Amino acid sequence: MATHKLLLLPGDGIGPEVMAEVKKVVGWLDSHGFASFSIEEDLVGGAAYDENGVPISDDAMAKAFDADAILLGAVGGPKWNTVGFDVRPEAGLLRLRKDLQLFANLRPAVCYPALAEASSLKRDLVEGLDVLIVRELTGGVYFGEPKTITDLLDGQKRAVDTQVYESYEIERIARVAFELARTRSNRVVSTEKHNVMKTGVLWKQVVSEVHGSEFSDVQLEHQLADSCGMQLVRNPKQFDVIVTDNLFGDILSDVAAMLTGSLGMLPSASLGSVEEISGRRRALYEPVHGAAPDIAGKGLANPIAMIGSLGMAMRYSFGLGEAADKLDAAIAGVLAQGYRTADIYSDGMTRVGTTGMGDAILAELGKAG
Ligand code: NAD
Repeated sequence: MATHKLLLLPGDGIGPEVMAEVKKVVGWLDSHGFASFSIEEDLVGGAAYDENGVPISDDAMAKAFDADAILLGAVGGPKWNTVGFDVRPEAGLLRLRKDLQLFANLRPAVCYPALAEASSLKRDLVEGLDVLIVRELTGGVYFGEPKTITDLLDGQKRAVDTQVYESYEIERIARVAFELARTRSNRVVSTEKHNVMKTGVLWKQVVSEVHGSEFSDVQLEHQLADSCGMQLVRNPKQFDVIVTDNLFGDILSDVAAMLTGSLGMLPSASLGSVEEISGRRRALYEPVHGAAPDIAGKGLANPIAMIGSLGMAMRYSFGLGEAADKLDAAIAGVLAQGYRTADIYSDGMTRVGTTGMGDAILAELGKAG
Protein backbone atom coordinates (compact mmCIF):
# COMPACT_ATOMS: atom_id res chain seq x y z
CA MET A 1 0.00 0.00 0.00
CA ALA A 2 1.36 3.45 -0.94
CA THR A 3 2.25 5.79 1.92
CA HIS A 4 0.79 9.28 1.53
CA LYS A 5 2.85 12.21 2.82
CA LEU A 6 0.54 14.59 4.65
CA LEU A 7 1.64 17.92 6.13
CA LEU A 8 -0.62 19.22 8.91
CA LEU A 9 -0.62 22.97 9.59
CA PRO A 10 -3.18 23.51 12.39
CA GLY A 11 -2.60 27.28 12.63
CA ASP A 12 -4.49 29.54 15.03
CA GLY A 13 -7.76 29.81 16.96
CA ILE A 14 -9.96 26.77 16.42
CA GLY A 15 -7.46 25.40 13.85
CA PRO A 16 -5.65 23.10 16.33
CA GLU A 17 -8.97 21.95 17.84
CA VAL A 18 -10.49 20.84 14.54
CA MET A 19 -7.14 19.43 13.35
CA ALA A 20 -7.05 17.18 16.42
CA GLU A 21 -10.22 15.49 15.13
CA VAL A 22 -8.63 15.00 11.70
CA LYS A 23 -5.67 13.29 13.37
CA LYS A 24 -8.08 10.83 14.98
CA VAL A 25 -9.66 10.05 11.59
CA VAL A 26 -6.22 9.66 9.93
CA GLY A 27 -5.22 7.29 12.75
CA TRP A 28 -8.43 5.29 12.24
CA LEU A 29 -7.93 5.00 8.46
CA ASP A 30 -4.33 3.92 9.04
CA SER A 31 -5.11 1.33 11.69
CA HIS A 32 -8.03 -0.12 9.71
CA GLY A 33 -5.97 -0.67 6.56
CA PHE A 34 -7.71 1.94 4.37
CA ALA A 35 -4.55 3.97 3.80
CA SER A 36 -1.05 4.51 5.05
CA PHE A 37 0.00 8.03 5.99
CA SER A 38 3.30 9.60 6.94
CA ILE A 39 2.52 12.74 8.90
CA GLU A 40 4.56 15.92 9.36
CA GLU A 41 3.32 18.91 11.33
CA ASP A 42 4.40 22.56 11.46
CA LEU A 43 3.30 26.07 12.37
CA VAL A 44 1.50 28.62 10.21
CA GLY A 45 -0.09 32.01 10.81
CA GLY A 46 0.11 33.75 14.18
CA ALA A 47 1.48 30.62 15.86
CA ALA A 48 4.43 30.63 13.42
CA TYR A 49 4.92 34.38 13.88
CA ASP A 50 5.11 33.97 17.67
CA GLU A 51 7.71 31.21 17.33
CA ASN A 52 9.78 32.37 14.35
CA GLY A 53 8.82 36.00 13.60
CA VAL A 54 7.36 34.95 10.20
CA PRO A 55 3.91 33.51 9.39
CA ILE A 56 5.47 30.45 7.75
CA SER A 57 9.11 29.39 8.02
CA ASP A 58 11.33 28.26 5.14
CA ASP A 59 11.51 24.90 6.89
CA ALA A 60 7.70 24.56 6.84
CA MET A 61 7.68 25.62 3.17
CA ALA A 62 10.21 22.87 2.39
CA LYS A 63 7.90 20.36 4.07
CA ALA A 64 5.00 21.76 2.00
CA PHE A 65 6.94 21.18 -1.23
CA ASP A 66 7.75 17.65 -0.12
CA ALA A 67 4.18 16.69 0.89
CA ASP A 68 1.65 14.88 -1.29
CA ALA A 69 -1.01 17.09 0.31
CA ILE A 70 -1.23 19.81 2.94
CA LEU A 71 -4.06 20.20 5.43
CA LEU A 72 -4.41 23.65 6.98
CA GLY A 73 -6.68 24.59 9.90
CA ALA A 74 -7.08 28.37 10.01
CA VAL A 75 -4.94 31.46 10.56
CA GLY A 76 -5.47 34.81 12.25
CA GLY A 77 -7.00 36.38 15.32
CA PRO A 78 -7.04 39.67 17.24
CA LYS A 79 -3.70 38.90 18.92
CA TRP A 80 -1.92 39.63 15.62
CA ASN A 81 -3.99 42.61 14.43
CA THR A 82 -1.10 45.02 14.90
CA VAL A 83 1.80 43.03 13.44
CA GLY A 84 3.42 44.26 10.20
CA PHE A 85 1.49 43.69 6.95
CA ASP A 86 4.13 41.36 5.49
CA VAL A 87 4.15 39.10 8.56
CA ARG A 88 0.41 39.05 9.32
CA PRO A 89 -0.96 35.51 9.78
CA GLU A 90 -2.77 35.51 6.38
CA ALA A 91 0.59 36.11 4.64
CA GLY A 92 1.55 32.53 5.56
CA LEU A 93 -1.46 31.16 3.71
CA LEU A 94 -0.84 33.48 0.74
CA ARG A 95 2.80 32.34 0.52
CA LEU A 96 1.69 28.72 0.42
CA ARG A 97 -0.82 29.45 -2.36
CA LYS A 98 1.66 31.55 -4.34
CA ASP A 99 4.83 29.46 -4.01
CA LEU A 100 2.99 26.20 -4.69
CA GLN A 101 1.13 27.92 -7.58
CA LEU A 102 -2.27 26.70 -6.47
CA PHE A 103 -4.41 28.13 -9.28
CA ALA A 104 -7.58 26.06 -8.91
CA ASN A 105 -9.85 26.54 -5.91
CA LEU A 106 -12.49 23.85 -5.42
CA ARG A 107 -15.46 24.74 -3.25
CA PRO A 108 -18.06 21.99 -2.96
CA ALA A 109 -21.51 22.99 -1.74
CA VAL A 110 -23.18 19.86 -0.43
CA CYS A 111 -26.45 19.98 1.48
CA TYR A 112 -26.89 17.03 3.83
CA PRO A 113 -30.59 16.05 4.03
CA ALA A 114 -30.46 16.32 7.84
CA LEU A 115 -29.41 19.98 7.58
CA ALA A 116 -31.72 21.13 4.80
CA GLU A 117 -33.70 23.24 7.30
CA ALA A 118 -30.54 25.28 8.06
CA SER A 119 -30.37 26.54 4.47
CA SER A 120 -31.68 29.96 3.50
CA LEU A 121 -33.71 28.21 0.76
CA LYS A 122 -36.65 25.81 0.99
CA ARG A 123 -35.87 22.15 1.71
CA ASP A 124 -36.97 20.83 -1.70
CA LEU A 125 -34.61 23.27 -3.47
CA VAL A 126 -31.49 22.25 -1.51
CA GLU A 127 -31.96 18.72 -0.16
CA GLY A 128 -29.31 16.53 -1.82
CA LEU A 129 -27.59 19.53 -3.41
CA ASP A 130 -24.06 18.70 -4.65
CA VAL A 131 -22.41 21.53 -6.62
CA LEU A 132 -18.68 22.03 -7.13
CA ILE A 133 -17.43 25.53 -7.86
CA VAL A 134 -14.03 25.64 -9.56
CA ARG A 135 -12.58 29.14 -9.15
CA GLU A 136 -9.45 30.47 -10.83
CA LEU A 137 -7.34 31.59 -7.86
CA THR A 138 -4.10 33.22 -8.99
CA GLY A 139 -5.12 35.61 -11.80
CA GLY A 140 -7.79 38.11 -12.74
CA VAL A 141 -8.70 41.42 -11.18
CA TYR A 142 -7.25 40.71 -7.72
CA PHE A 143 -3.74 40.54 -9.18
CA GLY A 144 -3.86 42.48 -12.50
CA GLU A 145 -1.69 45.59 -12.95
CA PRO A 146 -2.12 48.56 -12.90
CA LYS A 147 -3.80 48.54 -9.53
CA THR A 148 -3.74 52.11 -8.27
CA ILE A 149 -5.50 55.03 -6.62
CA THR A 150 -4.40 58.32 -8.20
CA ASP A 151 -5.03 61.86 -6.93
CA LEU A 152 -6.53 63.96 -9.74
CA LEU A 153 -5.95 67.70 -10.13
CA ASP A 154 -9.57 68.62 -9.36
CA GLY A 155 -9.49 67.05 -5.88
CA GLN A 156 -11.06 63.83 -7.13
CA LYS A 157 -9.37 60.45 -7.02
CA ARG A 158 -9.34 57.65 -9.57
CA ALA A 159 -9.09 53.97 -8.60
CA VAL A 160 -8.06 51.34 -11.12
CA ASP A 161 -8.14 47.56 -10.89
CA THR A 162 -7.19 45.54 -13.93
CA GLN A 163 -8.79 42.28 -15.00
CA VAL A 164 -6.23 40.28 -16.98
CA TYR A 165 -6.34 36.69 -18.21
CA GLU A 166 -4.02 34.91 -20.58
CA SER A 167 -5.24 31.89 -22.47
CA TYR A 168 -2.98 29.41 -20.62
CA GLU A 169 -4.61 30.43 -17.32
CA ILE A 170 -8.07 29.74 -18.72
CA GLU A 171 -6.99 26.50 -20.39
CA ARG A 172 -5.58 24.96 -17.20
CA ILE A 173 -8.58 25.86 -15.01
CA ALA A 174 -10.97 24.61 -17.71
CA ARG A 175 -9.10 21.28 -17.79
CA VAL A 176 -9.43 20.92 -14.00
CA ALA A 177 -13.18 21.56 -14.25
CA PHE A 178 -13.73 19.11 -17.12
CA GLU A 179 -11.62 16.41 -15.46
CA LEU A 180 -13.57 16.77 -12.22
CA ALA A 181 -16.90 16.73 -14.08
CA ARG A 182 -15.92 13.35 -15.53
CA THR A 183 -15.74 11.97 -11.98
CA ARG A 184 -19.18 13.43 -11.14
CA SER A 185 -22.23 14.02 -13.37
CA ASN A 186 -20.20 15.07 -16.43
CA ARG A 187 -21.67 18.57 -16.70
CA VAL A 188 -19.85 21.93 -16.65
CA VAL A 189 -21.30 25.42 -16.64
CA SER A 190 -18.68 28.05 -17.53
CA THR A 191 -19.57 31.53 -16.38
CA GLU A 192 -18.22 35.00 -17.28
CA LYS A 193 -19.49 38.32 -18.69
CA HIS A 194 -18.63 38.10 -22.41
CA ASN A 195 -21.38 40.62 -23.13
CA VAL A 196 -19.42 43.44 -21.44
CA MET A 197 -15.86 42.22 -20.74
CA LYS A 198 -13.03 41.27 -23.12
CA THR A 199 -11.73 38.78 -20.55
CA GLY A 200 -15.19 37.20 -20.72
CA VAL A 201 -14.94 36.92 -24.52
CA LEU A 202 -11.55 35.18 -24.26
CA TRP A 203 -12.73 33.00 -21.35
CA LYS A 204 -15.70 31.69 -23.32
CA GLN A 205 -13.62 31.10 -26.44
CA VAL A 206 -10.80 29.24 -24.66
CA VAL A 207 -13.15 27.09 -22.56
CA SER A 208 -15.01 26.13 -25.76
CA GLU A 209 -11.73 25.24 -27.50
CA VAL A 210 -10.49 23.07 -24.60
CA HIS A 211 -13.89 21.40 -24.53
CA GLY A 212 -13.97 20.75 -28.29
CA SER A 213 -10.45 19.36 -28.49
CA GLU A 214 -10.17 17.35 -25.25
CA PHE A 215 -13.49 16.98 -23.43
CA SER A 216 -16.32 16.75 -25.97
CA ASP A 217 -17.82 13.88 -23.90
CA VAL A 218 -18.58 16.40 -21.11
CA GLN A 219 -21.73 18.52 -21.38
CA LEU A 220 -20.78 22.22 -21.50
CA GLU A 221 -23.05 25.23 -21.07
CA HIS A 222 -22.05 28.91 -20.94
CA GLN A 223 -23.94 31.25 -18.60
CA LEU A 224 -23.42 34.92 -17.87
CA ALA A 225 -22.19 35.34 -14.28
CA ASP A 226 -25.19 37.43 -13.18
CA SER A 227 -27.59 34.86 -14.58
CA CYS A 228 -25.59 32.06 -12.93
CA GLY A 229 -25.91 33.84 -9.56
CA MET A 230 -29.65 34.08 -10.06
CA GLN A 231 -29.93 30.41 -11.06
CA LEU A 232 -27.88 29.37 -8.01
CA VAL A 233 -30.55 30.70 -5.68
CA ARG A 234 -33.52 29.83 -7.95
CA ASN A 235 -32.70 26.22 -8.81
CA PRO A 236 -29.23 25.24 -7.48
CA LYS A 237 -29.63 21.52 -8.17
CA GLN A 238 -29.39 22.15 -11.95
CA PHE A 239 -25.59 22.56 -11.51
CA ASP A 240 -22.83 19.96 -11.28
CA VAL A 241 -19.50 21.80 -11.86
CA ILE A 242 -19.30 25.58 -12.30
CA VAL A 243 -16.01 27.00 -13.59
CA THR A 244 -15.32 30.70 -13.32
CA ASP A 245 -12.71 33.41 -12.77
CA ASN A 246 -11.28 34.70 -9.51
CA LEU A 247 -13.77 37.53 -8.87
CA PHE A 248 -16.99 35.79 -9.91
CA GLY A 249 -15.79 32.61 -8.20
CA ASP A 250 -15.25 34.48 -4.93
CA ILE A 251 -18.84 35.68 -4.97
CA LEU A 252 -20.59 32.62 -6.40
CA SER A 253 -18.81 30.20 -4.04
CA ASP A 254 -19.96 32.20 -1.01
CA VAL A 255 -23.53 32.28 -2.36
CA ALA A 256 -23.41 28.51 -2.87
CA ALA A 257 -21.93 28.06 0.61
CA MET A 258 -24.90 29.71 2.26
CA LEU A 259 -27.26 27.26 0.56
CA THR A 260 -25.76 24.53 2.74
CA GLY A 261 -26.24 26.00 6.21
CA SER A 262 -23.11 26.70 8.25
CA LEU A 263 -19.51 27.80 7.73
CA GLY A 264 -18.47 24.93 9.97
CA MET A 265 -19.56 22.42 7.29
CA LEU A 266 -17.57 23.64 4.28
CA PRO A 267 -14.27 22.16 3.08
CA SER A 268 -12.17 23.45 0.18
CA ALA A 269 -9.19 22.48 -1.94
CA SER A 270 -6.61 24.53 -3.82
CA LEU A 271 -4.81 22.62 -6.55
CA GLY A 272 -1.77 23.33 -8.72
CA SER A 273 -0.47 21.73 -11.88
CA VAL A 274 0.48 18.10 -12.20
CA GLU A 275 4.27 17.80 -11.94
CA GLU A 276 5.74 16.07 -14.98
CA ILE A 277 8.25 13.84 -13.21
CA SER A 278 6.30 12.74 -10.12
CA GLY A 279 2.80 12.91 -11.65
CA ARG A 280 1.79 14.58 -8.38
CA ARG A 281 -0.54 17.57 -8.22
CA ARG A 282 0.33 20.11 -5.54
CA ALA A 283 -2.63 20.52 -3.21
CA LEU A 284 -3.72 22.38 -0.09
CA TYR A 285 -6.95 21.47 1.70
CA GLU A 286 -8.59 23.72 4.29
CA PRO A 287 -11.98 24.57 5.76
CA VAL A 288 -13.66 27.68 4.33
CA HIS A 289 -14.06 29.11 7.84
CA GLY A 290 -11.47 31.18 9.70
CA ALA A 291 -9.89 30.93 13.15
CA ALA A 292 -13.18 31.78 14.94
CA PRO A 293 -11.52 33.55 17.91
CA ASP A 294 -14.95 34.00 19.57
CA ILE A 295 -15.21 30.26 20.24
CA ALA A 296 -11.52 29.22 20.21
CA GLY A 297 -10.40 27.12 23.17
CA LYS A 298 -13.97 26.33 24.23
CA GLY A 299 -14.34 22.95 22.52
CA LEU A 300 -17.34 24.25 20.56
CA ALA A 301 -16.01 24.31 16.99
CA ASN A 302 -17.61 22.12 14.37
CA PRO A 303 -14.85 19.84 12.98
CA ILE A 304 -16.85 18.69 9.91
CA ALA A 305 -15.35 21.25 7.47
CA MET A 306 -11.86 20.17 8.56
CA ILE A 307 -12.66 16.45 8.39
CA GLY A 308 -14.35 17.06 5.02
CA SER A 309 -11.11 18.70 3.85
CA LEU A 310 -9.29 15.44 4.67
CA GLY A 311 -12.01 13.68 2.62
CA MET A 312 -11.22 15.95 -0.35
CA ALA A 313 -7.49 15.18 0.02
CA MET A 314 -8.30 11.47 -0.03
CA ARG A 315 -10.38 11.91 -3.18
CA TYR A 316 -8.24 14.35 -5.17
CA SER A 317 -4.65 13.70 -3.96
CA PHE A 318 -4.52 10.11 -2.76
CA GLY A 319 -6.88 8.26 -5.11
CA LEU A 320 -8.86 7.02 -2.11
CA GLY A 321 -12.31 7.80 -3.49
CA GLU A 322 -13.94 4.81 -1.84
CA ALA A 323 -12.61 5.69 1.61
CA ALA A 324 -13.65 9.32 1.01
CA ASP A 325 -17.19 8.14 0.17
CA LYS A 326 -17.18 6.20 3.42
CA LEU A 327 -16.10 9.27 5.37
CA ASP A 328 -18.81 11.40 3.70
CA ALA A 329 -21.37 8.70 4.55
CA ALA A 330 -20.21 8.70 8.19
CA ILE A 331 -20.67 12.49 8.37
CA ALA A 332 -24.15 12.22 6.83
CA GLY A 333 -24.88 9.37 9.26
CA VAL A 334 -24.06 11.29 12.45
CA LEU A 335 -26.10 14.25 11.23
CA ALA A 336 -29.03 11.96 10.46
CA GLN A 337 -28.75 10.61 14.02
CA GLY A 338 -29.17 14.14 15.32
CA TYR A 339 -25.65 14.99 16.52
CA ARG A 340 -25.10 18.74 16.28
CA THR A 341 -22.37 21.20 17.30
CA ALA A 342 -23.63 24.59 18.50
CA ASP A 343 -23.41 26.26 15.07
CA ILE A 344 -25.90 23.80 13.52
CA TYR A 345 -27.94 23.00 16.64
CA SER A 346 -31.74 23.03 16.54
CA ASP A 347 -34.33 21.92 19.11
CA GLY A 348 -34.59 18.22 19.83
CA MET A 349 -31.09 17.41 18.53
CA THR A 350 -28.15 16.02 20.55
CA ARG A 351 -25.68 18.81 21.31
CA VAL A 352 -22.01 17.80 21.12
CA GLY A 353 -18.68 19.66 21.20
CA THR A 354 -15.71 19.37 18.86
CA THR A 355 -14.40 16.08 20.26
CA GLY A 356 -17.93 14.68 20.63
CA MET A 357 -18.58 15.24 16.92
CA GLY A 358 -15.19 13.73 15.99
CA ASP A 359 -15.88 10.68 18.18
CA ALA A 360 -19.37 10.24 16.70
CA ILE A 361 -17.92 10.26 13.16
CA LEU A 362 -15.30 7.68 14.17
CA ALA A 363 -17.99 5.49 15.75
CA GLU A 364 -20.03 5.72 12.54
CA LEU A 365 -16.97 4.81 10.44
CA GLY A 366 -16.46 1.82 12.73
CA LYS A 367 -20.07 0.67 12.24
CA ALA A 368 -19.69 0.67 8.47
CA GLY A 369 -16.76 -1.75 9.00
P1 NAD B 1 -14.58 33.00 10.99
O1 NAD B 1 -14.87 32.05 9.90
O2 NAD B 1 -13.39 32.70 11.81
O3 NAD B 1 -15.87 33.09 11.97
C1 NAD B 1 -17.12 33.60 11.53
C2 NAD B 1 -18.21 33.07 12.49
O4 NAD B 1 -18.45 31.69 12.21
C3 NAD B 1 -17.82 33.15 13.96
O5 NAD B 1 -18.95 33.47 14.73
C4 NAD B 1 -17.34 31.76 14.28
O6 NAD B 1 -17.51 31.39 15.64
C5 NAD B 1 -18.21 30.90 13.36
N1 NAD B 1 -17.48 29.70 12.93
C6 NAD B 1 -16.49 29.62 12.05
N2 NAD B 1 -16.04 28.38 11.93
C7 NAD B 1 -16.77 27.63 12.77
C8 NAD B 1 -16.78 26.25 13.11
N3 NAD B 1 -15.93 25.36 12.56
N4 NAD B 1 -17.66 25.83 14.04
C9 NAD B 1 -18.52 26.68 14.61
N5 NAD B 1 -18.59 27.99 14.33
C10 NAD B 1 -17.70 28.47 13.41
O7 NAD B 1 -14.45 34.45 10.34
P2 NAD B 1 -14.05 35.84 11.01
O8 NAD B 1 -14.66 35.92 12.38
O9 NAD B 1 -14.36 36.85 9.99
O10 NAD B 1 -12.46 35.78 11.15
C11 NAD B 1 -11.78 35.43 12.36
C12 NAD B 1 -10.27 35.36 12.06
O11 NAD B 1 -10.03 34.31 11.10
C13 NAD B 1 -9.73 36.64 11.44
O12 NAD B 1 -8.43 36.84 11.96
C14 NAD B 1 -9.68 36.33 9.96
O13 NAD B 1 -8.68 37.08 9.29
C15 NAD B 1 -9.33 34.86 9.97
N6 NAD B 1 -9.76 34.12 8.78
C16 NAD B 1 -8.92 33.15 8.36
C17 NAD B 1 -9.29 32.37 7.28
C18 NAD B 1 -8.36 31.24 6.90
O14 NAD B 1 -7.53 30.83 7.68
N7 NAD B 1 -8.51 30.70 5.70
C19 NAD B 1 -10.52 32.56 6.63
C20 NAD B 1 -11.37 33.55 7.12
C21 NAD B 1 -10.98 34.33 8.20
